[in-house]
Amino acid sequence: MHDFRYSGGQLHCEQVPIQSLVEQFGTPLYVYSSHTLTDHFQKLDQALAPLDHLICFAVKANSNLAVLRTLAQLGSGFDIVSEGELRRIIAAGGDPRKCVFAGVGKTEREIEFALRHDIYSINVESEPELLRIHQIAKRIGKVAPVAVRVNPNVDAHTHAKITTGTYENKFGIAIEQIEGVYARASKLKHLRLRGLQMHIGSQLTEVKPFRLAVEKVVPLAQKLHARHGFDFLSIGGGIGIVYREALASGLPRWWKETPEAGRILTPTTYANTLIPILRTLPLKVLLEPGRFIVGNAGALITRVEFVKRTGKKNFVIVDAAMNDLIRPAFYDAYHEIVPVKRKAGASVASDVVGPICESGDYFAKDRPLPKVGEGDHLALLSAGAYGSVMASNYNSRPLVAEVLINGDLCALVRERQPIEDIWQHESVPDWLIPKKAKRPTGKRRIARP
Ligand SMILES: *Cc1c(COP(=O)(O)O)cnc(C)c1O
Repeated sequence: MHDFRYSGGQLHCEQVPIQSLVEQFGTPLYVYSSHTLTDHFQKLDQALAPLDHLICFAVKANSNLAVLRTLAQLGSGFDIVSEGELRRIIAAGGDPRKCVFAGVGKTEREIEFALRHDIYSINVESEPELLRIHQIAKRIGKVAPVAVRVNPNVDAHTHAKITTGTYENKFGIAIEQIEGVYARASKLKHLRLRGLQMHIGSQLTEVKPFRLAVEKVVPLAQKLHARHGFDFLSIGGGIGIVYREALASGLPRWWKETPEAGRILTPTTYANTLIPILRTLPLKVLLEPGRFIVGNAGALITRVEFVKRTGKKNFVIVDAAMNDLIRPAFYDAYHEIVPVKRKAGASVASDVVGPICESGDYFAKDRPLPKVGEGDHLALLSAGAYGSVMASNYNSRPLVAEVLINGDLCALVRERQPIEDIWQHESVPDWLIPKKAKRPTGKRRIARP
């Protein structure tokens, strides 16, 4: 369930009309709902109550400080993938001791930073990485808590760019090799084998791959726990959300266990399937959901600049672009698009496109949409995860503003980037500057590497 819905013909986020946000903050604009964030976190947390568990929100899905702070206050831990993300957690008032550090390419600097901040576990993706962590821990006089990421070789049946749990991809260590890796790692004195981790992919809409993977990994975790005295098993993230008919999914009936609800993976289905298998383990269970927590909690609001009819097509050209929300271009992703002011009348098959000179710069193709014109506003729903975090300055377009709604309260949680800031760290080398314009001191300026 989420908090974007029509009231009096106007799309609202919680109690705030989107139109008023557009007037105040301009477009493109990301709008997030505190209530949806909180509700999704708590629904999952409550469904898992029979287990000793910790939800570690995957920061890469949305790292806005206000989002992180909201979740930290609910007791969330965090799954981070870089020094930058750990610094964000600290800046947001989160607890590094509730953080797990994932990723196949952690640098020495990042590992040292994480160890100095006493993070809960570094989730290791290869043996060379274990050795690197050991060396760093030894140098700085620490014992590094680690878990190895096991690749259970289960196909998540999701998009090729977001499937991670088979031997076709770069993640984790094959399940057959795990025992040997732990045996060797147990000899390294500056490592503490704290757990076992897995993550099979993202946007899973059925529970079966989760069940298969957990069934494969639980006996292994048992065995390793007996040998090495673990604390936890992490079953990763990946719970899918509704993208099609996202508006309707805001209606309460979607969360009940009705036949319609079978079309999405609810926290109850997820928990009821996995709890009986995980209950047998004397370990804490960690989860790393990103999209599930924040995906439906955000929308990208955009203004219609032009409507262009060619022989066959109706193009709705908007002021948001692939640099603001890359998911359609990158993953062929679907986002439901609705007008901010509800429109009556027949719909027209439309291509919703951005202004960038790339044919990948589109949000929808041949989508039945109400007739819109210049100055109308559209909302791209379910854009809270992997939206603003993947934005770039392509075409020297500034990063867009973000607001957080809480009931009838609204806060600007990221200012629209001033255009000059886009090139603030660039410089022009001396030899391109005419002599008479050079600084009178005569000192040579050195171009930054
Ligand atoms: C991306 C990722 C997640 C989060 O995935 P979602 O599909 O957003 O839940 C969790 N764990 C790891 C290791 C990841 O790489």
